[in-house]
Amino acid sequence: MTTEAQPLEGFRLELREWLEANCPASMRVIADPSLYGKATEAEKKQWLDAMAGRGFTTPTWPKEHGGGGLEKAELQVLNEELGRVGAYPPMVSFFGTAMLGPVLLEFGNDAQKNEHLRKITNGEINWCQGYSEPGAGSDLASLQTRAVLDGDHYIINGSKIWTTQANVADWIFCLVRTDATGPKHDGISFILFDLKSPGVTISPIQLISGSSEFCQVFFQDVKADAKNLVGPLNGGWTIAKRLLEHERKTLSGGMGGAGMAVPVVKKDKKAGEKKKKAPLVASASLLAESARPYIPGDDKRLGDADLRSKIAQYELDALCFSFSMRRSGEEGKAGRGPGPATSMFKLYSSEMNKRKMELQMSIRGANGLGWEGEGFEPGEISETRGWLRSKGNSIEGGTSEVQLNVIAKRVLGLPD
Ligand SMILES: Cc1cc2nc3c(=O)[nH]c(=O)nc-3n(C[C@H](O)[C@H](O)[C@H](O)COP(=O)(O)OP(=O)(O)OC[C@H]3O[C@@H](n4cnc5c(N)ncnc54)[C@H](O)[C@@H]3O)c2cc1C
Repeated sequence: MTTEAQPLEGFRLELREWLEANCPASMRVIADPSLYGKATEAEKKQWLDAMAGRGFTTPTWPKEHGGGGLEKAELQVLNEELGRVGAYPPMVSFFGTAMLGPVLLEFGNDAQKNEHLRKITNGEINWCQGYSEPGAGSDLASLQTRAVLDGDHYIINGSKIWTTQANVADWIFCLVRTDATGPKHDGISFILFDLKSPGVTISPIQLISGSSEFCQVFFQDVKADAKNLVGPLNGGWTIAKRLLEHERKTLSGGMGGAGMAVPVVKKDKKAGEKKKKAPLVASASLLAESARPYIPGDDKRLGDADLRSKIAQYELDALCFSFSMRRSGEEGKAGRGPGPATSMFKLYSSEMNKRKMELQMSIRGANGLGWEGEGFEPGEISETRGWLRSKGNSIEGGTSEVQLNVIAKRVLGLPD
């Protein structure tokens, strides 16, 4: 028996006790996320504070910046134990934990880390991403929003578009042009500022799914403190690309698509017992499961053979993708950031999620067309909206065509 497994099992046991004491029943709702909305604000805050107190909102960040300082194997145990009690993730800003935080840890100075990281881990602050502009999406380096140094501030003018959650965010991390004379990639800087600053106007845009989760944001002579310029002046492109890698890595695992490897651990397992490998992909079996209510007859077998074979193919592809995600995670050296290969996962995951949503629509037939009103279950309406929302998966975080370009150039090394 190696001693390596023992501290992990000790950690598991301690976690179980801690979760029993600290995870409110109202937060154990991952099997039916709609129940999260029924919890009180006090319960949500209690859960957030408990998780943040242990550094578990950002489990692998260093402890000195509010993280949990966990190693990969410990992270796996944490995820399994959270899965075991069905814990809903505490509400912290995805843009903070998955995107800005990791680049601040890599490129920020001490003052910036001290100022911003703990607010992210505590869920005190919501961030949004100011990258795309009306004339700069796939060709992001063509961005025109200008920042001009004026004493100890930059004065910012321009506009960002498709800025997700800008209407609920407190601060924005923003790509700005600080030099327009040289090559376009060399005149970009990465800066942070408060969205309540005078001169910021935020205008929500309605999505095809009916929600307004993204916005156009206008800047007119907005003052941003120069101390919040991250990395070197005109050196923002390197940071921008690294942040996109973090974004793509997270999107690959978090769209509810093929890449979402959900650790499902049997409830009756005792700590210390040798564990069976957890199923890798929950989404695939959920797809078949979700078909049942729509299948007439007792044998619960879909009559449409073509649809049956498409579901089976999806399940196989999802399983293979999930294995690849796991292998890539295990191969990655500890502490090494993500690289351009994240584009492969982002591409595949977003296309798979769209495929899954299309299949769900086919399974539901007419029940999948509900938009509002009577005659449809609330779940059916939200599925319809989710299907429409999934159309954006292959656009957000860089389109599928852009991922193919990255793979060709930076992974396969093909010529331009
Ligand atoms: C749901 C959602 C959320 C988003 N959230 C944010 C956010 O929070 N912050 C933010 O900054 N942006 C956000 N975006 C914007 C997103 O990053 C851009 O929409 C995306 O980068 C594409 O840019 P574009 O819309 O300008 O399309 P374009 O760049 O104009 O592309 C149009 C089409 O041309 C294709 N194309 C373009 N260039 C090439 C090429 N070189 N080779 C092959 N094909 C090409 C594209 O693939 C696409 O099909 C979001 C988008 C969506 C859908």
